[in-house]
Amino acid sequence: MTSDSTGYKNHIEKTAKLKSGEISLKENVRYFLERIKKHEHLNAFNFIFDEDALLQAEKIEEKIHSGTHGKLAGMVIAIKDVLALKGKPLTCSSGMLKDFTSLYTATAVRKLLEEDAIIIGKTNCDEFAMGSSNENSAFGPVLNPVDTSRVPGGSSGGAAVAMAAGLCDLSIGTDTGGSIRQPASFCGVLGLKPTYGRVSRSGLTAFASSFDSIGPFAKDISDIALVMEVISGRDSFDATSARNEVPEYSLNLDDITVSKGNYSGKPRIGIPKEYFSEGLNEEVRDVIKGTIEKIKSQGFEVRDISLPNTPYCIATYYILTTAEASSNLARYDGARYGFRGPKSQTLKDMYVDSRTSGFGKEVKRRIMLGTYVLSAGYYEAYYRKAQKVRRLLKNDFDRAFSEVDLILTPTAPTTAFKLGEKSSNPLEMYLNDIYTTSANLAGIPGISIPVGNDSKGLPVGMQLMADQFDELTIMKMCRYLDEKI
Ligand code: GLN
Repeated sequence: MTSDSTGYKNHIEKTAKLKSGEISLKENVRYFLERIKKHEHLNAFNFIFDEDALLQAEKIEEKIHSGTHGKLAGMVIAIKDVLALKGKPLTCSSGMLKDFTSLYTATAVRKLLEEDAIIIGKTNCDEFAMGSSNENSAFGPVLNPVDTSRVPGGSSGGAAVAMAAGLCDLSIGTDTGGSIRQPASFCGVLGLKPTYGRVSRSGLTAFASSFDSIGPFAKDISDIALVMEVISGRDSFDATSARNEVPEYSLNLDDITVSKGNYSGKPRIGIPKEYFSEGLNEEVRDVIKGTIEKIKSQGFEVRDISLPNTPYCIATYYILTTAEASSNLARYDGARYGFRGPKSQTLKDMYVDSRTSGFGKEVKRRIMLGTYVLSAGYYEAYYRKAQKVRRLLKNDFDRAFSEVDLILTPTAPTTAFKLGEKSSNPLEMYLNDIYTTSANLAGIPGISIPVGNDSKGLPVGMQLMADQFDELTIMKMCRYLDEKI
């Protein structure tokens, strides 16, 4: 990938230039702050921390010169406004939390700060991360920088746009059903959803706790590798965070060889036929097929595979995530924190009034759906059944990963659609997640890589999924594609 006007292409180059004095960190932060201002119309940021960022730049610059700096020294990062940063607003782009300030810092964000990253601001998103277009935000929609009449994707639309428009070095989003990968695809940047449990969720406002993952957007895979090394790992504040050792991703990107059981060689790639059926836009299909041909010509073993339970992904995802959301969002009742409806006379009125005017339409739709599937008469028919299907989907992937190392699919069935095009039809909106929810249901990692454009010049993203905790194979393949294809 080519260098942009910052004068460096990744953090390794930036660090060298900071050390040699070729660039000043304060100037660099000013450059981003000016760019953010110039791109205000995209509405990518809910909050900008200009003073803090400049102050940090000064301190970190000193550390760089005295050689006491951390791994991410001076990396300018934007975080999605569902992640806590002590003393700063945490709104989840919701009217419910519009005046809420974080009392502590999310583990992932704390780890970034400990390695001397600079947090430049908090990015816009769909309310409580529910959506595929970033149109469900109390701060208004985010625009796609490639074509401002189009959506950036969602729910981490602001984070994807901050990256695509060059407003920071890297951004952090969250992915419950595709919210990192789909906006990465629509905006033409890299976006990685790690294995469930790889990154602590402490300080991430819960949407669907058994699905939520925190991950980076970037332009260069080496930056993703570096940040994943920092934010991954066990955390006593999140009982579901994994104890698995965190590999040194950034030092292992260049060797494409993978070793698994008796196999050692280039990653074997599976193409699931269910992801290329009707509903996939012709131009997206052609770009992905073209990339598959190029991969084949480089001597990779590419084979057709089947993930037979794929047709049930969307239904299963929307039953389980709405159930979890209805339970997680029960805490916003106007009593303890967040918005309180002003005209309440009785306790019940207060609950009703606060929740009716505090939440937006999509969030209320999901709370109602979730309450319904968990209700006494329907629990067995919907929730329990969906849990079983989730297991079957995981089995599909286990079977596939006994033969292949990576699964390649389109990230989304279309390129970025027009603002307003799907907002009146929730089902059509949900279908945009058709290729991404499976990774969250199975808890496996997935990335979206920009691989071309359609005839309108809109970016097309290709998804690579790997087995649980095998982010490294995804990253290696991404490096290979960047350098050789
Ligand atoms: N678009 C999906 C949804 O609306 C995914 C959201 C997400 O990953 N946070 O639920």
